[in-house]
Amino acid sequence: MRMISTRGRAAPVGASEAMVAGLAPDGGLYMPTALPRRSPEDFSGLSSLASVAEKLLTPFFQDDPLAPSLPGICRAAFAVPPPLRAFGDGGDQMLELFHGPTAAFKDYGAAFLAGCLAAGPARTTPLTVLVATSGDTGAAVAAAFHRRPGFRVAILYPHGLVSPRQAHQLGCFGDNVHAFKVAGNFDDCQRLVKAALADDALRAQVPLTSANSISLGRLLPQMAYYAQASLAHWRSLRRPLSFIVPSGNLGNGLACLLAKRMGLPIDRLVLATNANQVLPEFFAGGEYRPRPAIPTLANAMDVGSPSNFERLDWLYPDEQELRPALSAEAVSDRQIEQTIREVHGRLQRVLCPHTATAAHVLQRLRQRGETGDWCVVATAHPAKFPDVVEPLVGGVVPLPPALEAMLARPAHAEPLAADEAALAAALRSL
Ligand SMILES: *Cc1c(COP(=O)(O)O)cnc(C)c1O
Repeated sequence: MRMISTRGRAAPVGASEAMVAGLAPDGGLYMPTALPRRSPEDFSGLSSLASVAEKLLTPFFQDDPLAPSLPGICRAAFAVPPPLRAFGDGGDQMLELFHGPTAAFKDYGAAFLAGCLAAGPARTTPLTVLVATSGDTGAAVAAAFHRRPGFRVAILYPHGLVSPRQAHQLGCFGDNVHAFKVAGNFDDCQRLVKAALADDALRAQVPLTSANSISLGRLLPQMAYYAQASLAHWRSLRRPLSFIVPSGNLGNGLACLLAKRMGLPIDRLVLATNANQVLPEFFAGGEYRPRPAIPTLANAMDVGSPSNFERLDWLYPDEQELRPALSAEAVSDRQIEQTIREVHGRLQRVLCPHTATAAHVLQRLRQRGETGDWCVVATAHPAKFPDVVEPLVGGVVPLPPALEAMLARPAHAEPLAADEAALAAALRSL
């Protein structure tokens, strides 16, 4: 299938090319030309995440050099099953996407992208994977590309604005992974990555790609777990499932919307944000007004200018259609804290601050008398955020073993000015 730019001024390309390019040459984001319709029956007999993913993603790779590798890429990237568990005893559910190597949902998309890029032609000059991170992306991408021949990773994170444990995780890979602590915020990191990708002179010397949530190679695979969870729910109850997705750059939420548009049994989609409320304001009828991010307890969602909004805008050129397709709710730091405390007290479940935004939105929906079958998407393991979570639950949150091993390694990050020329120089000298 051909992939086209949201800005419409770049030649259509195949899926592998779109994944290597990251950003389209006209500065737009790649989208598939069509979303094939699928019904639950099309997936009959398929229940593992990898098999659902392969079925779902095959049309996008038709006629692509990667097509024969797709089954193997899916088996590797989707090896960890995401549990769909009851959340309380009122029929609500939680989809836990944090059982991968770096304990956040981004492991799935990053592993798929890495599998696709590594299955391409062997490289003589290494490809540098550039990634701006507000915390979790960088680690997921680093884990996915760590020690893969032909690849280097450059991680940019805002110095002082990720949790100490996240910073350690970003700096502890070594080998072909380079961490940079940027004197700026996450939006600065994103701007630097976009500028480097648009710098033809730099790219001629240092082959670059991006692994941010703007990458189609992360967006498409994220549909898989929504497909699998909604199919499981459909098979047992014959009813569609609605999702509440903790959102920042809108990559995860958009993947859910795409899965719904492909015909999977998904009913409603509500985005939960932290106090960065660009999306809630827009969906409540206001203007779309991107602005600098403000720091919150759910720091991986501290985004003032959600990069995937451009895709949403492209999917629904008419605002009258876009607004009802989704809704979004903002959750304050106080509400995040209350929710973590309350859910721990009531259910003995420990939530990460991001997941808590969605759990809070669920409470609001139920209080308003909303019916339907709701699923809270759990995006990270709470042990990644001990400074926030442990005082609220009054105890230590045990680390998953993969995370524990990672944190036992020494960490290092290079300081970097929030300046395009400084990044270009650093990339040339890797
Ligand atoms: C990245 C991240 C989010 C936000 O996901 P987007 O795709 O950027 O909307 C939410 N929660 C956690 C834990 C994350 O790491």
